[in-house]
Amino acid sequence: MRKHLFHFGLLVAGAFTVGAAQTRVVGPEGSRPSTVVVIDAGHGGWDRGGIARQLVPESVMNLDVAQRLRAVLQSYGYHVVMTRDTDVFVPLGARVAIANAYRDAIFVCIHFNATPRSSASGIETYFYSSQSLPLASAIHYYVVGGAPSANRGVRRRGFFVLRKTRIPSVLVECGFLTNPTEAQYAQSVAYRQKLAEEIARGVRERSLVATGTSADNRLVANTATVPLQPFIDQTHYRDPDQVRSKHKRSKSSSKSASSKRKPSSNSDSETKSRKKKSTSANTEG
Ligand SMILES: [Zn+2]
Repeated sequence: MRKHLFHFGLLVAGAFTVGAAQTRVVGPEGSRPSTVVVIDAGHGGWDRGGIARQLVPESVMNLDVAQRLRAVLQSYGYHVVMTRDTDVFVPLGARVAIANAYRDAIFVCIHFNATPRSSASGIETYFYSSQSLPLASAIHYYVVGGAPSANRGVRRRGFFVLRKTRIPSVLVECGFLTNPTEAQYAQSVAYRQKLAEEIARGVRERSLVATGTSADNRLVANTATVPLQPFIDQTHYRDPDQVRSKHKRSKSSSKSASSKRKPSSNSDSETKSRKKKSTSANTEG
């Protein structure tokens, strides 16, 4: 068991540096349906996600939840852009480029988790920039509230797609496909629909997250209905995507590369915590 550092909303106001031209999430305009939502279904094509031995392919589940999320958000009036809408592989850089093509947008990545330890379970939501914490808080609050799975918390971590996007960005790990119970949930249409609806609710109500200083919180206390979530700081984990894109990913992200990469493409923090070495800090983003 490692110790995690919990931080609270007080940090959010100014602890991290964010780019100058960024969209402000919190505020009355935050819930305006004209906001573009870029949905990123993780993995795809040769990259099935997860770990080699798992039976339920993550990339397929991700896409299904993403498509359901699109339908719900569209019914709310949002303009939705998908980084992929079929079972194809899209490089992380291309996903980021799509997200960064929109100024007044938010970015939501859909993943399921995996680990060799089948008892590991629960839902995690990742963010990186401070402007993304309200969105992460709202999504996590509703997804955990609407699912029977354990709450593994909001986590701050420098996944490539979170670090490189200039808009509020969140990555949801919707449960462990290597856990028999959660894999069973994930295979149910009703459950995937439920996940999509809760994520959409988080998107819609992200402006209701209490943020800022305690004085601000007092001011907004009457309207804020979603608590800003404490988070686990995992920014000390090395981001393998960065290493990969610098040294290895010259051109062949093809099949031979995929079989090598597969074990490390699971994003499970159980594995990382247990191995304790930053080299095990795998992810996909
Ligand atoms: Zn994944």
